[in-house]
This record gives sequence, structure tokens and C-alpha cells, in this order.
Amino acid sequence: MSVEVFSPDENEANKGTWRKPSEPKSAKEKFNKLQKRLRRNVGEAIADYNMIEEGDKVMVCLSGGKDSYTMLEILRNLQKSAPISFEIVAVNLDQKQPGFPEHILPEYLEREGVPFHILEKDTYSIVKEVVPEGKTTCGLCSRLRRGSLYGYAQEIGATKIALGHHRDDIIETLFLNMFYGGKLKAMPPKLLSDDKKNILIRPMAYCKEKDIIAFSEHKDFPIIPCNLCGSQENLQRQAIKAMLNEWDKTHPGRVESIFRAICNVAPSQLGDLNLFDFTGLTRDGNSDQISLVDLG
Ligand code: SF4
Repeated sequence: MSVEVFSPDENEANKGTWRKPSEPKSAKEKFNKLQKRLRRNVGEAIADYNMIEEGDKVMVCLSGGKDSYTMLEILRNLQKSAPISFEIVAVNLDQKQPGFPEHILPEYLEREGVPFHILEKDTYSIVKEVVPEGKTTCGLCSRLRRGSLYGYAQEIGATKIALGHHRDDIIETLFLNMFYGGKLKAMPPKLLSDDKKNILIRPMAYCKEKDIIAFSEHKDFPIIPCNLCGSQENLQRQAIKAMLNEWDKTHPGRVESIFRAICNVAPSQLGDLNLFDFTGLTRDGNSDQISLVDLG
């Protein structure tokens, strides 16, 4: 699939909006620009990683948070102008958290005309039973959620599972793995599940969280908070998020550069014996690999 496939109509947003460069932009103009940027980011990620193909049935996992609402909206938007045909079906997993407002998502999806399923699984009780009081529950909760959703994708014949993670989630995960897991590992834009039965895609891999926040606020999505269960957000992730926000203010461009680095890996310049044959290096046979080493 080419990049153009998912490119937004460049003229659409700016029709009849000529103005002097010094004039302040109207809220509508700003929103059009933001929407265009998100569409472009999603379109490019889809094209770069061949995320969606002709005839795909894409199961969009909808939690009721800003990220998944934005993903659904942008994908539906791109679906209208894509020259390939693919299906979108929204799926929400009702984890039976106390106080979960069950009516919000069905009402929203019916109003928007989106085909959907609500899957009910009481993972909340399992988590409460298994995780000791005071410990963070998000790890087990997410694993159970993933398991339920992957199984359901098979049931409904979905060929791709779309998750709402964005660029900043990916970068935060990189640092979490480096700081606490001793691994150079992030979150890939496209992934084959461990059981090899599902292909997961993250169409918002190139989108900045602050764009998603602005988009979601403008659209006034009926947000359902994730922490109805009473669990605290992972404190380590919060600390990394704060570090990245600080860098974004004090060193503009640094976060972008980190993301580019994730997409531009040089195994011969790292130290993983499984990724590069360091032990087999010889001056004659592998002289080109040696020349890659930066001795400066
Ligand atoms: S905040 Fe609660 S519902 Fe959300 S991932 Fe954590 S444990 Fe699960």
C-alpha cells in the first residue's frame, strides 16, 4: 500500500481560509490542521508497516479513553478515502469494574453508526483476588484484557487488532524497559501475538500524545476513566512521562529524535550477541562490518 492511499485531502481543511500570516488562527483552522496531522501520522504508519490490507476486518479495541476514541475516529475517517476496502468493528471489553458506565459506549457507537460488540468478562474480580492489597493491578489486568480480546478477535474473524498506543507510549515503554528491565525494547507498531494467531497494529504509533489530547478535547468524547478500579497509574511510567515532558520543554526535538532512534537501529553498534555475529567477525570476510564501528 502506498502512502498516498491514506493521505488526507490536503485542500479540504483549508478551503476558503486565506488570511494574512500575522492574523491569529481561528479555533476551526487549528483543529483542521490538527486533524490533518493526525490523519497524516496514522496514514504514514499504516503505509510504512503495511498495517491494513484489502479485505481486512480491523477490530478496534475501544476502552473509552481518549486514545482509542481518537484511533477509531481517524481510522473511520481514512476508511472513507482509502482506495482499498476494509472493515472496522469496535470492541469494548467490559471488565466489570464497579461503577463502569455500561451505557456510554453503546450509545456513542450507535449514534456514530459504528458496528460494535461489547464483550463482558469479570477480570476485575480475578485481579482483586490474585493481586495483594496495595500492589499495582495494571499488569495482570492488562494481560487478562489482552487474552480476552485476542480470543474474541478469533471468534469474530478479525484479521487485525488495532490498539490505541501512541508515540509517547512507545517511548515511555523504551525507557521503562531500559531502566527497570535491562532490555532495549519498546512497543512495536505491528506485532504477531505470542500464540501467532493475531496481528496487532498500532496505527497511532507516529502520533504525539498532546495532539491526541487536543483532538479528544475538541471532539468532546464521552471519556470513561481507566482507574474506576481504584488502581494508581504505574508510578514508574508517570516519572518517565514527567522526564519526557521536561525534555520536550527544555530540549525541543529530543523526544522526536528518540522515536527516530527506535526506528533506526544499528545492531552492529550495540552488544547483543543474538542480533549480530560479533564472535564471527574477521578482518577479511567481514571487513565491511568492522568499518561501521565508530571509533571516534
Ligand atoms: S487502572 Fe485498573 S482497569 Fe486500568 S489497567 Fe490498571 S487495573 Fe486495569
